[in-house]
Amino acid sequence: MSQALLETRGLTIRFGGLTAVDGVDLSLGRSEILCIIGPNGAGKSTLFNVITGIYRPSKGTVALEGRDITGNPAHRIAAAGITRTFQSSRLFNDLTLVDNVVIGMHCRTRTGVLTALLRPGKARAELDEAAERAGELIRSISPDLYERRHTLAGTLPQADRRRLEIARALASDPKVILLDEPSSGMDDRDTDALMASIRSVMARRAGLSFLIIEHDMRLVRALPDRVAVIDYGRKIADGDFQEVRQLPRVQQAYLGH
Ligand code: ADP
Ligand code: MG
Repeated sequence: MSQALLETRGLTIRFGGLTAVDGVDLSLGRSEILCIIGPNGAGKSTLFNVITGIYRPSKGTVALEGRDITGNPAHRIAAAGITRTFQSSRLFNDLTLVDNVVIGMHCRTRTGVLTALLRPGKARAELDEAAERAGELIRSISPDLYERRHTLAGTLPQADRRRLEIARALASDPKVILLDEPSSGMDDRDTDALMASIRSVMARRAGLSFLIIEHDMRLVRALPDRVAVIDYGRKIADGDFQEVRQLPRVQQAYLGH
């Protein structure tokens, strides 16, 4: 059996004549942070879309804790413990911060529509409990956000939206969280706060792992255990940041675009 928490083998997806992800082998351990870097259009977001079941791969496999989940529908993959954020933030602007996080719990809450109809009191109690838990999750990411937990998400600046999305991702109690360019739109101070949030979440949740697409080299240098480089859909390097960045093929990938 595989030791990896999340593993892809030969993962490939073609769109017509374009091979957007081309034979990618990735392995993510427990309690590990792996950053994926690479030029624009290299296939990084598409890789996330294939791992999370938005697209079915043309070839290759995805396994979580040694179980094959290749081609499973997105909701099943989410329920299995892989959750994600998107490159552009996807919050419900007209809902409060707390309610945005409660929505992230949906695949774990027991209360169904039937309970809500037949036993409204019980449903209410479970919702209150969910709201309280959501508040705690927000606090664990940022005490500052917690102070604003009853305001509408639409009022948040970009950096806070990103942080709230991480709180929402945590709400489903995942094994691995995929973040697509979490520091986009952040200044250095925001990025430092983001890294601190991720570290504190990892310290509190045994075994939780992150797969992070990033372009901010400050974060890539400081946060992950390991870095994988994608270029034209292929993984061209995988290892320690300082080693990877010196490889001629990595430098060429960045210069050549
Ligand atoms: P990155 O996230 O590394 O910047 P993407 O994964 O977004 O790159 O895109 C990789 C390539 O795949 C791009 O050429 C993009 O146009 C193409 N692509 C992504 N999704 C689709 C799709 N649904 N249909 C056709 N081409 C796509
Ligand atoms: Mg992308």
